[in-house]
Amino acid sequence: MSKILHRSIYAKLPIAVGGRGIELFDADGKAYIDASGGAAVSCIGHGHPDVLAALHAQLDKLAYAHTGFFTTEVAERLADRLVADSPDGIDYVYFVSGGSEAIEAALKMARQYFVERGESRRRHVIARRQSYHGNTLGALAVGGNEWRRAKFKPLLIETHHIAPCYAYRDRSDAESELEYGDRVAYELEAKILELGPHGVIAFVAETVVGATAGAVPPVKGYFRKVREICDRYGVLLILDEVMCGMGRTGTLHAFEQEGIVPDIMSVAKGLGGGYQPIGAVLFGRHIYNAFSSGSGFFQHGHTYMGHPMAAAAALAVQNVIREERLLDNVMRMGELLNRRLRERFDSHNHVGDVRGRGLFRAIEIVAERSNKAPFDPAQKLNAVVKREALARGLMVYPMGGTIDGARGDHVLLAPPFTVNAGQVDTIVERLGDALDAALSKSGS
Ligand code: PLP
Repeated sequence: MSKILHRSIYAKLPIAVGGRGIELFDADGKAYIDASGGAAVSCIGHGHPDVLAALHAQLDKLAYAHTGFFTTEVAERLADRLVADSPDGIDYVYFVSGGSEAIEAALKMARQYFVERGESRRRHVIARRQSYHGNTLGALAVGGNEWRRAKFKPLLIETHHIAPCYAYRDRSDAESELEYGDRVAYELEAKILELGPHGVIAFVAETVVGATAGAVPPVKGYFRKVREICDRYGVLLILDEVMCGMGRTGTLHAFEQEGIVPDIMSVAKGLGGGYQPIGAVLFGRHIYNAFSSGSGFFQHGHTYMGHPMAAAAALAVQNVIREERLLDNVMRMGELLNRRLRERFDSHNHVGDVRGRGLFRAIEIVAERSNKAPFDPAQKLNAVVKREALARGLMVYPMGGTIDGARGDHVLLAPPFTVNAGQVDTIVERLGDALDAALSKSGS
């Protein structure tokens, strides 16, 4: 065999050579518990035989057909399944190859919806600070992270950012959760009025915020208010569930726990569970009807959309989730994970918050619990935690420091839905040890 020259930009990383269940193995034979599912992707773990069989079977039949000519049975079955399992109001599916592509398509879909209706002057998009929607130019523009956007600003569409719903940091002691939720939701109304009610296309938000702030769920009632405000001004609600969706919070879509339905939503990561790259935009009949009674088609497209191999993987992953009743396990193990995190960190000097839903959980690290002061981003504590966790055979997803605009460091956990009680205990034990080691190395 020829020598590997390491010309990829990832060449300094360890080499992953295998995966089984919730573990990954590197070239030195070291095992890692994949407690982050990569980036909240590997929802049924690695090497599931049903998915491998489905992929082999599809490869034997047909690896690729261009959607300019054909759809495929497997893509149609997957679309039917996604619509059947979604609440009323989600009627159609548009397949793409990942999360950023899903957001790009969702934004164009929202704009074209208004163009078809003769409302071309609608052009503004409102999104939230401390959000992540992807790295392509449209997705980057709506993402609420100044650090990520700064270098590329001249290339980005203008987006208007309002406050996130981040109770741990922003709710005052004088406010109830409901009052806080109303206050931040009304920021949306104020922004719509400022921009002109007939000028706004859409409000984009992650239902449960993922990487940028660490599994931050909305307070009760927030999204109901947001939905009301969007309806009042005819603004479309786009929910980005690329990370928090497809069962990760215990329901197929995280928005089901909010009692609302978006006009358009994006899913990706857990849809294909990492077996193939796939994302999708799910949307309502009113959007579809605007296209079909207007120009007749959605003016978008990618070479690999509806890819049969990706659809086969996703359909098999979703079948495994159903047949193995994994959403029940997400609820049960999610509660256990929350309990264990609280036992370990509730009185920890440097953990300010333990939060999340289902198997989407996080701890927020603070220098000082009493005033929630974050560590100096220059310390890059999140990177040290990651290193210490990897040394202990644990994959977690720490973010923060400069990446987060210095609002704090956090560690995100998103283990496969198959995780068991013993593995939950090990994850929390290793995370606690890694955090303490990182803090002591940083002199805290
Ligand atoms: N939206 C959210 C909420 C995400 O978390 C991500 C990725 O982490 C994306 C969009 C972008 O997805 P991708 O990396 O597949 O392009």
